[in-house]
Amino acid sequence: MSDIENVVIIGSGPAAYTAALYTSRANLKPLVIEGEADQSKRTDLPGGQLMITTDVENYPGFPEGVEGPKLMELMRKQAERFGTRVESGWVDKVDFSKRPFTLAAGGRTWRAKSVILSTGAGAKWLGLPSEKALMNRGLSGCATCDGALPVFRNKHVAVVGGGDTAVEEATFLTRFASKVSIVHRRDQLRASKIMQDKARKNPKIGFVWDSVVKEVLDPKAGRVTGLRLENVKSKKESTMEVGGVFIAIGHEPNTAVLRGQIDLDEKGYVKVTKGSYTNVEGVFAGGDCVDHVYRQAVTAAGMGCMAAIDCERWLETQEG
Ligand code: NAP
Repeated sequence: MSDIENVVIIGSGPAAYTAALYTSRANLKPLVIEGEADQSKRTDLPGGQLMITTDVENYPGFPEGVEGPKLMELMRKQAERFGTRVESGWVDKVDFSKRPFTLAAGGRTWRAKSVILSTGAGAKWLGLPSEKALMNRGLSGCATCDGALPVFRNKHVAVVGGGDTAVEEATFLTRFASKVSIVHRRDQLRASKIMQDKARKNPKIGFVWDSVVKEVLDPKAGRVTGLRLENVKSKKESTMEVGGVFIAIGHEPNTAVLRGQIDLDEKGYVKVTKGSYTNVEGVFAGGDCVDHVYRQAVTAAGMGCMAAIDCERWLETQEG
């Protein structure tokens, strides 16, 4: 077992590296435990969701845009410059019941005076092989991130899902696409009434009810050309030509390992009060594992900063 760390940060997205930047500049020598790359899961890459984003055009300070992976590389370098240490591993066990806290990943164990949780969240996926093959080739999990890219401009695009995210993304996409079809597995939307009304009034938005995606076409062409759909009532299959597809069937926070250790809400997001304080003294949280409303790189970074400042101030109260 290693010495006791001042602060261990779990995660590797904008919240984690901003927390690392601030705590390292406060001379706390933070340790970041980043997830190990697992391409098959796509949302669990070190670097978080930005690793599956192409051009990030809404992160301030990059007037020409920046690629998601590049932005994460820069954030990591900036944190390392001030003494952040980074280790790879999936944290598979935590014990927050007593201090120092303990964390374990693949058989290795760390002890920590304080912990910052920034494990992020991931878009849910349909789980189709064709979906995986066409990721970033006309298939995306985030219209805000990718919708304005040239590949979707003046094209017929589809949004899969029936919740607020799907309707919001479809509405956003009408700025760029020639037509947007919402493909939903039922004949009623789950989205809030106000957002439904807005979408129904938008002449560019159409609905494909009672339908599920059987395959995203065409992996052989190396880009999205259409969707093979099945009507769940009639069982009839059809093909819809589209130039892009956005999967908007919800997000889930990466908090399974925290269950039973810390207060989570009914959807699994970490509950915080007073900025970044969790219910366990000495454990702070920020970023998408806390936030299911804004979910932006810049808001995650801001929350990472808040967690770092709260953590630093809390540690000061523990000295002597
Ligand atoms: P959500 O409310 O859970 O909706 C997910 C949608 O995807 C549902 O319509 C669901 O269908 C469908 N779906 C789930 N799994 C599927 C699958 N395997 N295949 C096909 N369809 C599938 O998720 P969300 O839309 O991301 O919203 C999450 C939360 O954020 C909600 O509380 C929402 O209100 C909130 N939100 C708010 C705003 C806003 O107010 N501006 C914007 C975005 C999100 P069923 O309906 O059949 O279950």
